[in-house]
Amino acid sequence: MTSISKAMSIADNLTQIYEQIEKTARDSDRDADTVHLVAVSKKQPTERMQAALDAGHRCFGENRVQEAQEHWSDLKSAYPDLKLHLIGPLQTNKAKEAVALFDVIETLDREKLARALAKEMQNQGKTLPCFVQVNTGEEPQKAGIIPADLPDFLTFCRDECELDIAGLMCIPPIDEPPALHFAFLAKLRQENNVVDLSMGMSSDFEKAIPLGATYIRVGTGIFGERASHI
Ligand SMILES: *Cc1c(COP(=O)(O)O)cnc(C)c1O
Repeated sequence: MTSISKAMSIADNLTQIYEQIEKTARDSDRDADTVHLVAVSKKQPTERMQAALDAGHRCFGENRVQEAQEHWSDLKSAYPDLKLHLIGPLQTNKAKEAVALFDVIETLDREKLARALAKEMQNQGKTLPCFVQVNTGEEPQKAGIIPADLPDFLTFCRDECELDIAGLMCIPPIDEPPALHFAFLAKLRQENNVVDLSMGMSSDFEKAIPLGATYIRVGTGIFGERASHI
């Protein structure tokens, strides 16, 4: 595919996803303006990100700090209204770079990281909204707070670290119906007095919206298949 037709297809994909958001929100009596689209640009060539920028999109997600710096450091100054979400695991020794580059941290999942982020935000004079990642399936290999530990962890983040907790995020297990996990995350939101829910990807965002998603994270549905070699 030539880069021009790819660019057009990215604009078309964005339009189509916005239409699906509108329709799904309307069908579930929600205001589509409360559902934000995070375009996940990890492992994508920069032309594709540029095509999304040219189409007017400004909110992007990346899962690794170093790759995000390569993708966005220059573009950030060219597009001051850009919003970058960190959606992958963060090592505490990368907290400084993460706070410098990102606008939202979606993967807060342990006390040590909460402390490191709080310290960096103070150093850099920034307050980034954070999502607590919840391991709704309690999968051993997956990041995230175990649901039973969520209330205490939120108290720690808010009271001891004075972090701005915007909401909760989850990645459902591959082999289970995602809607179960979305409904569970929505219940945890209600019990814990948080506002936002980051849930739903290319294959299942239409199930996440009726259950209350306020951020959906869509990669391949916008940009096509990712490079497998990175
Ligand atoms: C890669 C990724 C996505 C996007 O997945 P797609 O299936 O390409 O839409 C969403 N969320 C997280 C946490 C990811 O790592």
